[in-house]
Amino acid sequence: MPIATVNPANGETLKAYEPMGEEELERRLQLAEATFRTYRTTTFAERARLLQQAADLLDEDQPEIGRVMTLEMGKPLKQARAEAAKCAKAMRWYAERAEALLADEEPAASDVTDSGASRVRVRYRPLGPVLAVMPWNFPLWQVVRFAAPALMAGNVGLLKHASNVPQTALYLEDLFHRAGFKEGCFQTLLIGAGAVDGVLRDERVKAATLTGSEPAGRAVAATAGEMIKKTVLELGGSDPYVVLPSADLDRAAEVAVTARVQNNGQSCIAAKRFIVHGDVYDAFAGKFVAGMEALRIGDPMAEDTDVGPLATEQGRADLEELVDDARRSGAEVLCGGQRPDGPGWYYPPTVLAGIHRDMRIHREEAFGPVATLYRAGDLDEALLIANDSPFGLSSNVWTRDADEVERCARDLEAGSVFVNGMTASHPAFPFGGEKRSGYGRELSGHGIREFCNITTVWQG
Ligand code: NAP
Repeated sequence: MPIATVNPANGETLKAYEPMGEEELERRLQLAEATFRTYRTTTFAERARLLQQAADLLDEDQPEIGRVMTLEMGKPLKQARAEAAKCAKAMRWYAERAEALLADEEPAASDVTDSGASRVRVRYRPLGPVLAVMPWNFPLWQVVRFAAPALMAGNVGLLKHASNVPQTALYLEDLFHRAGFKEGCFQTLLIGAGAVDGVLRDERVKAATLTGSEPAGRAVAATAGEMIKKTVLELGGSDPYVVLPSADLDRAAEVAVTARVQNNGQSCIAAKRFIVHGDVYDAFAGKFVAGMEALRIGDPMAEDTDVGPLATEQGRADLEELVDDARRSGAEVLCGGQRPDGPGWYYPPTVLAGIHRDMRIHREEAFGPVATLYRAGDLDEALLIANDSPFGLSSNVWTRDADEVERCARDLEAGSVFVNGMTASHPAFPFGGEKRSGYGRELSGHGIREFCNITTVWQG
């Protein structure tokens, strides 16, 4: 994929970049290593001051960087601005709390005595330069949720961003510099996916985090495994959204629409499979389809647009194939299902019913505004359908029954269970998946400790 900004609303190439050559890459790796040697000794207070400064600058830049994100990947402008605001909030959260999250831990006195020590401490030390391979769908947020904790922990970052968001990638490097971080603390590597392997094999790179598709995760994890380097993988999802008879149906249907089409349907934690109890299936389906049909599709720069174009032409073609496969196998199209004429990579909000296991869309991720509806006889069957997926990122359930809540919290195979609401990340809560949605966690104390060396300091 060329490194370029291509406007998804009309297919026009706005700016193209040459990938960095060997020499420039080498210079940046050297700089990362050299910077880490001193940056790792800075205090939490110094790092926090810089990160707070980055948050303030990001707030000031919000209108402009929002516009850049929308131009590069097509999300509605108001959602792009909200993404920038969320990034500033996460920066402040880590700036304020990193020191406490990474404070030395003291094992129980009896265990210390038992080991023959006078004192034992468990200390979290930074690892070094961490490579972040990131996707285009939340081009600021995915990077910041790695960078804020990594920088607070004393690591330095090397960003390989998706090739279609180069301006956002360069903005991030510039933002951290303007905030006062030394040049080598956070660098953007303008390289294609093919160059990732070489960077990851470099001895100076100590670990990697990848947010993206399963094939990309597999490639990075394989190399990291060979090199014995720590990885965190945040991969795809096909989250279930279970609606049970006691649910507030109006609210469940209204939130279902947002949960499916946020970010033009291109979110890993979007609800994708809607599994509805037979007693309320028809009522829910009617409200849900009406909500999907009422969305305003159009220019993502327009303030009143709900759904813009998909980010890439290939992404739209992949989505169409999934829908066509389901249709050929007997799925019923309740709305949408046909790409519009005209420029831009638009695809309408679509609801498919009558889904069965042989359809690709049952097992694969629909990365666009396409929902699948399932009818379940009872909670047991709903859970079977929900867990019948290679993915396990997040999950949603709508019920007012406390026993059902506990049952879902116990049995849904996912990194989170959201009850009577849609999945959303928050700096304070761990984020990540199981099964082929990846491993490791971002955000919260769990996230900041992923790229730390947990060091036992034993004193006799
Ligand atoms: P992608 O094609 O996997 O790309 C993600 C990043 O990986 C890009 O920087 C890409 O570079 C790079 N890449 C691709 N193939 C690679 C390889 N073989 N080796 C090394 N790097 C490689 O994914 P995407 O289309 O941008 O994003 C969509 C996917 O990300 C979806 O599956 C979505 O669910 C997932 N996602 C997950 C989360 C989460 O938190 N779990 C969050 C957001 C998105 P190029 O752009 O140069 O190809």
